[in-house]
Amino acid sequence: MISGDTRVAAVVGNPVRHSLSPTIVNAAFAATGLDWVYTAFEVANGRGADAVVAMRTLGLGGLSVTMPHKGSVHDAVDERTPVAADLGAVNCVFWRDGRLVGDNTDGAGFLDALRLDHGVDVAGRRCVLIGAGGAGRAVARALGSAGAADVAVVNRSPAPALRAAELAGEHGRVGHAHDAAAADLVVNATPIGMGGTPGDPRDGGPLPLDPASLRAGQVVVDLIYHPDTTPLLAAAAARGATAVNGLGMLVHQAAHAFVRWTGGTAPIEAMVDATRRELARRALVDGSP
Ligand code: NAP
Repeated sequence: MISGDTRVAAVVGNPVRHSLSPTIVNAAFAATGLDWVYTAFEVANGRGADAVVAMRTLGLGGLSVTMPHKGSVHDAVDERTPVAADLGAVNCVFWRDGRLVGDNTDGAGFLDALRLDHGVDVAGRRCVLIGAGGAGRAVARALGSAGAADVAVVNRSPAPALRAAELAGEHGRVGHAHDAAAADLVVNATPIGMGGTPGDPRDGGPLPLDPASLRAGQVVVDLIYHPDTTPLLAAAAARGATAVNGLGMLVHQAAHAFVRWTGGTAPIEAMVDATRRELARRALVDGSP
């Protein structure tokens, strides 16, 4: 029962009504019995800093941040974690000693999805990362900091590829699609595949990767979580590779936020179940994620 004691957390973005975060985080509050509630606030472009003021004024217990506010919230918080500072982007704000701290949990969520859900440790692995946008940069940094032996970034535009490669540290470099043949881990961090079928016009072009370069022994990750099997993941599975979609990353990055806000242990299973149910419900209602 919501009362005057209930703590409020929220996601801010624009648009934000489609966000799965309320489903995921409210499932966590329900499963742990915490008197917290999580909602979504559509915040107009250019007003991300005002959302930080609102968090302070209203005493919100936690804030998630999505596009287009990750950069402006980064600039508006009192402190940033090293990962948020490196990425220049905040996706989670929490309280520490009365100060608002901006963090970015995407990379930790990506690593946890591999390690906890699939038993994959990226240390010493040769990795190919396709895409160098917000998610790609977070993954590049995470791979580098977790000890990947090689992080080859493949991207349509050269400058973002170089930036992501730099975030991966000494083992980061700008790569080529043909690097995938020798890779242990291949990650798609572009939206190509959201259409669900190879060559879907909504994808805006093909993935720069020859499916013939995939093989057994590789782990192939698509950050897309709807559809749950993208053409890349179907090709990977058909060739005997381990295929991993983006649902685990989505849940684990939220789990890191839950821990920052509440200090508790995140109930991962309940969060995954609720997310799967909501995705299935949306697919039934209108076929969209
Ligand atoms: P973003 O910042 O817009 O970056 C998009 C990236 O994809 C850029 O590198 C862009 O290349 C590339 N790209 C887009 N369309 C392309 C095309 N037609 N051909 C070649 N390259 C193309 O997006 P983002 O936030 O990084 O998200 C990327 C994907 O990850 C999305 O599918 C998103 O849903 C998913 N994601 C998943 C999670 C999760 O928790 N599972 C979290 C975040 C994002 P250019 O640099 O050349 O434009």
